[in-house]
Amino acid sequence: MVQNFTGYGSNRKEKMGFKVIKIEENVFKENDRIAEENYNFLKEKGIISFNFMGSPGSGKTTIIEETVKRLKDKYKIGVIEGDIAGSFDGKRIEKQRIPVVQINTGGACHLDANMVRKGIENLPVENLDVIFIENVGNLVCPAEFKIGNEINIVVSSITEGSDKPAKYPLMFKISKVCLLNKIDVENAYFEKEEFLHGLKEVNPDIVIFEMSSKRGDNFELWLHHLEKIITSFK
Ligand code: MG
Ligand code: ZN
Repeated sequence: MVQNFTGYGSNRKEKMGFKVIKIEENVFKENDRIAEENYNFLKEKGIISFNFMGSPGSGKTTIIEETVKRLKDKYKIGVIEGDIAGSFDGKRIEKQRIPVVQINTGGACHLDANMVRKGIENLPVENLDVIFIENVGNLVCPAEFKIGNEINIVVSSITEGSDKPAKYPLMFKISKVCLLNKIDVENAYFEKEEFLHGLKEVNPDIVIFEMSSKRGDNFELWLHHLEKIITSFK
């Protein structure tokens, strides 16, 4: 039997006379305000935006890359790449000859609404149908910080193990689609039943695609679904 404690108990706070300063609340409020502006701006321009989230190494960039490759002749796509440092991912996407903005968060482990606003400002929005945003690799705070996008996508690879939806419920709860990636990897410690059970527990409506962006498995199904979302937005 495992006992479960959630952080510091309230007793402890009282005993020690903790003063809780709610900086966090204000940070979120200001962020939400800018996120709403982003949302309204994109809506007005008729641009649908997708926020790709997931652990480092889950395959977000490759999925965006492969998706862009297959759809760029059909839709005008722009990409915002979020990373703590470097422009490796931005440079990869740039090879697709579409507009890309690389944002470096300078340490922050998520994109916030203000960063995304700057990203949008640097894209040719008058000439775009779709924006893909790749968030910083992290299963925690990207789910907490609104950035003003339309659709959340979570990328999870089988090499991360089967317990991720149960351990990071918010991420899977706020996502409309789960791309379960790297199904081509053999001998991964992954129990599909456990993953799916955890996923349905936190989000019964989530749509899941089992994919390998390396081998191309089920890419057509994902693209079909994506196009359905894009078409219904217009
Ligand atoms: Mg990446
Ligand atoms: Zn963060």
